[in-house]
Amino acid sequence: MRALILGGTADANLLAAEIVRAGIEAAYSYGGRTRAPADQPLPTRIGGFGGAPGLADYIRREGITHVVDATHPFAAEMSRNAVAACAETQTPMIALERAPWTKASDDTWIEVADVASAVAALPETPARVFLAIGRQHIAPFGARPWHAYTLRFVDPPDGALPFDADVIVSRGPFTLDGELEMVRSRSIEWIVARNSGGDGARAKIDAARTLGLPVIMISRPPLPERSRVENVAEVMQWLGHRACLGA
Ligand code: NAP
Repeated sequence: MRALILGGTADANLLAAEIVRAGIEAAYSYGGRTRAPADQPLPTRIGGFGGAPGLADYIRREGITHVVDATHPFAAEMSRNAVAACAETQTPMIALERAPWTKASDDTWIEVADVASAVAALPETPARVFLAIGRQHIAPFGARPWHAYTLRFVDPPDGALPFDADVIVSRGPFTLDGELEMVRSRSIEWIVARNSGGDGARAKIDAARTLGLPVIMISRPPLPERSRVENVAEVMQWLGHRACLGA
C-alpha cells in the first residue's frame, strides 16, 4: 500500500500523523499557496501536478494505491482532478471533508452560490465588511469600493491589494472571544464567509450570531459524486487500519 494525501488542511495534518503511527507508506501533497506550510511527518511534495493527467502520471509513477482528498472544501479544481485521475488509473479514492455549518434559528445568513453573488448581496450604502475569504477571491469586491473592508490572511500580502483595506495577518484557529473583540473593535457590520465547516474557522460565525450581524455565506462549489467521510478515523478504517487518535 502507498497512499497519497492531497492536503493543506488541519484534517489532512491529523491524518498524516495517524498514517505515520500506523506505519503506512504515504506521501503528502501541498498546493503551494502558503509560504510556510506546516511541517509534515511524511515525505512531502509541493505544487500542482499539471491537472488530472499530471496527477494520473504521478499516481502511476509513484505506485500510489490509495488517494485521500483531504483538501479544503473550496479547493474544487484539485478535488475534480483527483476524481478524474483516480477514475483513469482505477485508484481507490476517498474524500475527507468536514460537514458544512448549518444555519441556526438565530443566525442571519444570506446564502449565495459564489463570490460574484456575495458581492451583489452587499448593501448599496457604505458599510464595514469583514471578508473572511481567501486572498484569491477578494478582487471582485473592488466593484463595491464604497465599503470599508477588513481582510485576514495567513501570510502578509506580497503585492498591492485590488483596493484599500485593513489587513490582519493571522493563521488561526480563532476563538469566539478573539473574534468578538476583532469585530467590535473594527465596528464590523457585515461578514462574508465561505461555508468551510469545522471548528477552527467557525468562531466568526458564532460571533456574528452573538452580535446579531448578517453573514453572507458562500455555499460550497459542486463536485462530482465521490466517496466521502468526515473524520480521520473513518479514513483509517478505509485504509484498513484503526485510528489511535490522541494516543
Ligand atoms: P484549487 O483551486 O482546487 O487548485 C488549483 C490548483 O492548485 C490545482 O488544480 C492543482 O494544480 C493545485 N493544487 C491544489 N491543491 C493541491 C495539493 N494539495 N497538492 C498539489 N497541487 C494542488 O485549490 P485552492 O483553493 O487554490 O487551494 C490550494 C491548496 O490550499 C489546497 O491544497 C487546499 O487544501 C489548501 N487550502 C485551501 C483553502 C481555500 O480556501 N481554498 C483553505 C485552506 C487550505 P494542478 O492542476 O497543476 O495539479
